[in-house]
Amino acid sequence: MGRTKIGIVGCAGRMGLTLARQVAANDGCELCGGTEVAGSEQIGRDLGELAGLGSNGIVVGDDPAALFAEADAVLDFTVPAASADHAALAAESKTTHVVGTTGFETLHQTAINAAAVHTVVVQAANMSLGVNLLLALTRQVAAALDPEFDIEIVEMHHRHKVDAPSGTALALGRAAADGRGVEHDDVAARGRDGITGERKPGDIGYAVLRGGNVVGEHSVVFAAADERVALSHIATDRAIFARGAVTAALWAQGKPPGLYGMADVLGLAD
Ligand code: NAD
Repeated sequence: MGRTKIGIVGCAGRMGLTLARQVAANDGCELCGGTEVAGSEQIGRDLGELAGLGSNGIVVGDDPAALFAEADAVLDFTVPAASADHAALAAESKTTHVVGTTGFETLHQTAINAAAVHTVVVQAANMSLGVNLLLALTRQVAAALDPEFDIEIVEMHHRHKVDAPSGTALALGRAAADGRGVEHDDVAARGRDGITGERKPGDIGYAVLRGGNVVGEHSVVFAAADERVALSHIATDRAIFARGAVTAALWAQGKPPGLYGMADVLGLAD
């Protein structure tokens, strides 16, 4: 079998460039193209040069339909509206769609779910091995500890991040709610300011920090009277997400259509 042909939408973004380096470093795949949003100054530039790999003859384009038609898998770390549009292209061309974008509203997620009827979609708010282990552990600990333990999720990211809480923080909250057997949206306390009143029993609280160039830090704190359990993950390089995305793209080849998560890719699914 030949090498898996991988395309990157949003290829000049922070993750896009990291993904380009990761694809180049993996013998199982080759980069077949990249796109940017119409009007971007990066269109027409050499993607290899932008990624610090040296010229590789791959020019940043603005035609995602052509990219989806050519690639075996497309890596998508862009913005929700773009990922929703890309999902329709993935469905049409039956190309694997690896979706790392976060901050989805229901209409975006509906588009992703619809595409997964026709092609393989791997979607995860965090593609790192460590965070996916943290999700599994959070579910287990939340199931094991009695509701006397208050659950709080703390996250910190770089100053450019536009959505809050992070997709990973929300995934951790959902894992905790799952473990407890409650509906996440009924118990999520996503912002506290002013006279909030006492903490409601059973709430899952979120606290968000933004600053500097922090790649991503998440902690799940279980706090009871006189003791606390804390589970944490610290990411120091975006390469961990890119490695996960490339692993997902290769894993997906030959799989039946469907919506998969990193737990499936990493063999952590229950
Ligand atoms: P970024 O702003 O640096 O990059 C996004 C890129 O997408 C930009 O270059 C932008 O021009 C491009 N883009 C926007 N619309 C487009 C379109 N229609 N077509 C093609 N390109 C388009 O952001 P980033 O830090 O790289 O993060 C991107 C997304 O990935 C965010 O949602 C972030 O939360 C998420 N993320 C997920 C993971 C994960 O493991 N799942 C890890 C890191 C970041």
